[in-house]
Amino acid sequence: PASDHTDVQATLLKHNIRFVFAQFTDIHGSAKGKLIPLSHLEQIVCPGAGFSGASIWGTGLPRTGPRAEYYGRADLSTLQRMPWLPGYARVILDGYVAGQPFSLCPRQILHQQVARLAERGWTLNAGLEPEFFLLEESNGKFDSETGDRLDKPSYDTKSLLRRSRFLEKLSTSLDACGLQVFQIDHEDANGQFEINYHYADALKAADNFMLFKMAAQHIAEEEGLLFSMMPKPFAERPGSGLHFHLSVTDIDGKAIFSAEDDSDQTGLGLSPLAYQFLAGLLQHAPALTAFCAPTVNSYKRLMCGESLSGTSWAPAFIGYGDNNRTTVARIVSQRIEWRLADSAANSYLALAAVIAAGLDGIERALNPGPAVNRDIYQMTSEERSELGLHALPQNLGLANDALRRDQLLSQALGLDFIHEFLRLKNAEWVEYSQHVSSWETARYLNRF
Ligand code: GLU
Ligand code: MG
Ligand code: MG
Repeated sequence: PASDHTDVQATLLKHNIRFVFAQFTDIHGSAKGKLIPLSHLEQIVCPGAGFSGASIWGTGLPRTGPRAEYYGRADLSTLQRMPWLPGYARVILDGYVAGQPFSLCPRQILHQQVARLAERGWTLNAGLEPEFFLLEESNGKFDSETGDRLDKPSYDTKSLLRRSRFLEKLSTSLDACGLQVFQIDHEDANGQFEINYHYADALKAADNFMLFKMAAQHIAEEEGLLFSMMPKPFAERPGSGLHFHLSVTDIDGKAIFSAEDDSDQTGLGLSPLAYQFLAGLLQHAPALTAFCAPTVNSYKRLMCGESLSGTSWAPAFIGYGDNNRTTVARIVSQRIEWRLADSAANSYLALAAVIAAGLDGIERALNPGPAVNRDIYQMTSEERSELGLHALPQNLGLANDALRRDQLLSQALGLDFIHEFLRLKNAEWVEYSQHVSSWETARYLNRF
């Protein structure tokens, strides 16, 4: 990647690129941007592409005056083709307002937490595992293919191969962007899939997740399908998670989360630093929920475990264990799999919050306590309280409260940002709470 825009322009021209899609991510994790004809690339490097700040969710910017304009400055190192859209390239923008890095821009927020790790010579590697639904419309309703309704759809061959055209286009596009897809499966819910690609450093992982979403949305539309990352579209089916596989390497690329031997506390192969990081995640888990499970719908995924239709495999209690999928943190292959995040999470904000929480664990040398190697879904509430397993916040309102009370996380991510985030998320919670649903009228209208 060249740093000078004229070199970049020449290279793009050689590759028949006509447009650059200048993209940023709003507070809700949606991709936003503008198409820039190649000849005008210069403007988006400096001062940046201009947007009306007040038109973007989560900026808190005024409608008029010097702080009304949100500038997205191209990070030219992110420039790459959009293989599913020949002739187009994407570049990622960092938010600036009044000439300064904008403290409410999710990517700037992640930059700051990544810099805190870098001060110690560390890189957080994150493998994000998106789960999603592919739906079809029929008579105004969206559902998975009209054929089979399987009781255990996990790894189902027919359901997977029926979508091979979409999956192949997506996988080929992601590979062409360097994501290195290595597994695709049909998940636990009818119509639900998961795609796995190579981990990357936190910033790149967050960028790659947005690329994945943009490609999947576009290709699905071309195939006449709806790609959905709503966390729990169907009450009776499992929801969609976005698990983070986390590890840290030092300046020499040495993995500092794995123990040299297995003399560690629980024999899971984690280093003392990894346990402290994990303890930070567990301690801040209630507040992290606000970023990892950011919608009212998210809490329908997190509700505990077992139902008639099977196991949701989503966490409901705060604990960790050896390859334990019923906990919020599963330890596997000397990594932490953080299972709290769902498919609606903003990858920049959730990763930034995870880093801040983990670093707090390290700075205070916290201890995560003993591992839980039992099926938490099966425990009675007495057994859970004996083990000190606390429930995650059970709704968006409680998660927002937990974030508001978490001073460390609020300071780390920036008080202005937290204020705006909570303003929006509380409004969402209040609006939802005031809504009278058809479930309620069906149940109560005639009863009393
Ligand atoms: N769908 C589950 C969740 O919401 C995860 C299933 C799995 O372990 O892959 O987190
Ligand atoms: Mg999965
Ligand atoms: Mg997983």
